[in-house]
Amino acid sequence: MTDPVPVRVRFAPSPTGHLHVGNARTALFNWLFARQKRGTMILRIEDTDLERSQPHFEGQLVADLKWLGLDWDEGPDVGGRFGPYRQSERLLIYRQHAEKLLSTGKAYLCFCTEQELEQERARAAREHRQPIYSGKCRSIDPGESARRRAAGDSCAIRLRIPEHPIGFDDIVHGPIEFSSEVISDPIILRSSGMPVYNYVVVIDDALMKITHVIRGDDHLSNTPKQVSLYQALGWPVPQFAHLSTILGSDRERLSKRHGATSIANFRDLGVLPEALRNYLALLGWAPSGGTREIFSLEELIQEFSIERVTPSPAVFDVEKLYWLNRHYIKESPSRRLDALALPYYARSLGLGPLDEAGSNYSVSPQISIWLEKVTRLLIPAVDRLDQLPEKASLIFSYDAKAALESPENLEVLGWRQTDAVLTRITVKILEDEAARENQLTAEGFKKMVNEVKAETGAKGKELFHPIRIALTGAHSGPEFDKLIPIFEEGSHLPLPRHVLSVRERIEQFSRARLS
Ligand code: GLU
Repeated sequence: MTDPVPVRVRFAPSPTGHLHVGNARTALFNWLFARQKRGTMILRIEDTDLERSQPHFEGQLVADLKWLGLDWDEGPDVGGRFGPYRQSERLLIYRQHAEKLLSTGKAYLCFCTEQELEQERARAAREHRQPIYSGKCRSIDPGESARRRAAGDSCAIRLRIPEHPIGFDDIVHGPIEFSSEVISDPIILRSSGMPVYNYVVVIDDALMKITHVIRGDDHLSNTPKQVSLYQALGWPVPQFAHLSTILGSDRERLSKRHGATSIANFRDLGVLPEALRNYLALLGWAPSGGTREIFSLEELIQEFSIERVTPSPAVFDVEKLYWLNRHYIKESPSRRLDALALPYYARSLGLGPLDEAGSNYSVSPQISIWLEKVTRLLIPAVDRLDQLPEKASLIFSYDAKAALESPENLEVLGWRQTDAVLTRITVKILEDEAARENQLTAEGFKKMVNEVKAETGAKGKELFHPIRIALTGAHSGPEFDKLIPIFEEGSHLPLPRHVLSVRERIEQFSRARLS
């Protein structure tokens, strides 16, 4: 069944910092709801906090949302019938409606100074009361206050909160009622002329014909003030859905303390957008009847249900995110992974970025074909792309001394057969025609290993572990069949940091071993 009134939702970030997982989830739930109901998604930039808002954050928010695969039908960049979509461009609208509220007696002028208000707050704190505005200016005669204002007395505009409980039905939390005694008459326009969040959000949501306000539950306590404003303005109240708080693994509110929390952080860690999106969808929502966790975007649109969003806090489980990421990495076409992997190798290989953002690298076709092989080899072992350079260190950097000294290798290096295996393989590689040219093939190498096996009687681990230590620095790792050609090809490439061939490795290893 479709809703009789077309659904209109908005994501309304303040450009005061990076997009964090909490806000990104709010954006995603709005978007899923809009797409599912064939409604309209709106992006509104809430930049009335002039001190904290910065235009460059808006650009980043937009880029992060797009990276996540979200889009909008109306917004500052795409326009729309109900614009402007940046609050700083709507100040006149806010002032006009504030005057209207004043003229109908729904709002009043407040002449209290900051100092007086501070004293009131301090008294409330001493008496263990909530800091509620006393309502001192409520009863000033409107004619008198208009005169004072005209004479230049500094004043704010406050909404008159009616003396009855204010309730609303939250889709997530159910019916909620606030007693008017716990709600101060809120300032809607400061004496500076700047409007206040609780007020502008209502003006905008109403004028933009928002039907459902889906946002974080940190705004739950603001909602009665907003409901009063709708009522004062005689406008229909939208439906509210307040999404639960996101907690870290220690069940404290998720914050920087918990590590990566911004969308940009996760992108830098090499999390794919579809993995993050899938994970965010599961923060507070689960499909009906099932424990399914992997959802394509289409499936999310189909399955998502705002009614099934839970009011209890959601715990951000980064391991689950990485598990999902691994799934999506496996599903990704290799061409995409090749392109995404390049910046991660760049630093270890000493490649310089092409752009200031440091994200655009260009390498010769020869190098890129080689890196593709590296990626193909290593990708099954990572769950984030930023793990690639570490995994690739056995190819990019080799340290014979470290290999010999590593505690991990001590046992293998002490095995009875190890010396014989190492001596034989060294001689074979050094005498090999192809290896001398750094052209050893996987087959050629296999033949040598088989000869060492026959000559020493070592087999399995006894045979392979020492050889692996000699060539890669570690006793376990990817298959030699793939590794040998990668070493050899890499050694011919004009890379800022030379990749060692099989021969160069064994030379360094035997030198270190004998010294
Ligand atoms: N600008 C507000 C925020 O970022 C939006 C609140 C709302 O959605 O009403 O928290």
